[in-house]
Amino acid sequence: MEGERRDREVAAVVDTIAAIATPPGQGGIAIVRVSGPAAREVVGRLFRRSGGRTGMPEPRRVYLGELLAAPGGPALDQVLAFAMPGPRSYTGEDVVEVQCHGGTIVSRRILESILAAGARAAEPGEFTKRALLNGRLDLAQAEAVADLIAARTEAGRRLAWSQLDGVLSARVGALRDAILAVRARCEAALDFPEEDDVVAALAGDALARECARVRREIDGLVAGFERGRLRYEGARVALVGKPNVGKSSLLNALAGRERAIVTAVAGTTRDVVEATVALAVGPVVIADTAGLRAAGDEIEALGVARSRAAIADAACTVAVFDGAAPLDADDRAVAAAVRGRPSVALVNKSDLPSRVPTAALADLLPGVPIVRASALTRAGLDGLGAALGAVLAGGEEAPEDEVAIYRARHRDATRRASDEVARAERGIAAGAGAELIASDLAAAAEALGTITGEVTTEDVLDRIFGEFCIGK
Ligand code: GDP
Repeated sequence: MEGERRDREVAAVVDTIAAIATPPGQGGIAIVRVSGPAAREVVGRLFRRSGGRTGMPEPRRVYLGELLAAPGGPALDQVLAFAMPGPRSYTGEDVVEVQCHGGTIVSRRILESILAAGARAAEPGEFTKRALLNGRLDLAQAEAVADLIAARTEAGRRLAWSQLDGVLSARVGALRDAILAVRARCEAALDFPEEDDVVAALAGDALARECARVRREIDGLVAGFERGRLRYEGARVALVGKPNVGKSSLLNALAGRERAIVTAVAGTTRDVVEATVALAVGPVVIADTAGLRAAGDEIEALGVARSRAAIADAACTVAVFDGAAPLDADDRAVAAAVRGRPSVALVNKSDLPSRVPTAALADLLPGVPIVRASALTRAGLDGLGAALGAVLAGGEEAPEDEVAIYRARHRDATRRASDEVARAERGIAAGAGAELIASDLAAAAEALGTITGEVTTEDVLDRIFGEFCIGK
């Protein structure tokens, strides 16, 4: 059969890869995935069905059996195994999955046996890379696979899923088609250089209008990047306060591990340190900023500038005060910096006797929820989470159905496309030759093509798939 012949040709150049697809550690089951022309043959050497026969049975049926350490060797585990023949599989190749008992050693031993039987250990993302190369998904969808796995918020999951579903690819494809259509019209104009001036001017007008329309749509994608990133990554929260009130300690207490460097010397948190923290409302990115106060030196001044930028960037700020010391001028400056923005006031060090009366703080920050907590004992941190949740949930959300980009690679490509279309528009306005305009439009189409991978390089692919987990 024709299909089989093609399969055999592919077998000559493509090897068979295998990896554990489930995370390390103990769990109900673990999955070892095998893909490539020899997938069925390799697992078939090691799979013994209940009843004693070895060999990989019919595709698309699930079989119970034992996975052997080597052909004819002892059983390693009782497993479920099934084969999905290419091209209608995840990778587009023959795929076999073996489900064994979840455990680091069990799955590792099964993988080792499969590798010894003729497969090669897969690189990170290699299954998805093969799916891309076999046309099962495009590059934006391949990235969405990684994003879906890494999603930390429900909104992020929805965004990654819509991208995997092809929504972004369709939008980018339509824009690319529109640009190529304009280019074709330019080239047609090239073929008839004798056209009279009036006709040429009219054609130029129409081309310019179409370019402007496409560019506005591309710019809409660029403009949605920040919103998309927010939706994908979760809301940003900035911790602000004068030095030594306990911002780094709070971040560490919230993040549950040592992310920020905590020291007792004022002004030592020079840079912005971030941690993603799971709150009841969903994960938020909390940024610990350098202390906000009149700057003592140049580096600290830089830190203060960064703090202000972090406040501007944040969906919510937590103004932190030292509960063990009376409010001073620096605290008043902190209150002034966050006033009018969504914020929570946190009186830290509640394990020590309080010297900050609630009324005094309420005067400084009217209407702002006040929470008392201790980064040291962790008392009151739940209250901080609840207050943050209430402030954030009150914030306005981006429209759910917006086609949004959230990867910097996509933003850069759309910006490039927009610049090239703008250049073509300038060319049309200046009466440039159709050849020149057509080449700008070709560059714009190419920039958009890098998003979906019509245009790509091995470097870009290595970078993208290098971020994937092994087994995906
Ligand atoms: P930052 O400059 O605001 O980031 O403050 P740090 O997190 O570096 O903390 C400054 C000092 O206050 C350190 O010595 C911390 O151990 C101490 N500290 C932080 N939080 C608490 C707390 O809740 N209770 C007590 N007693 N000390 C704390």
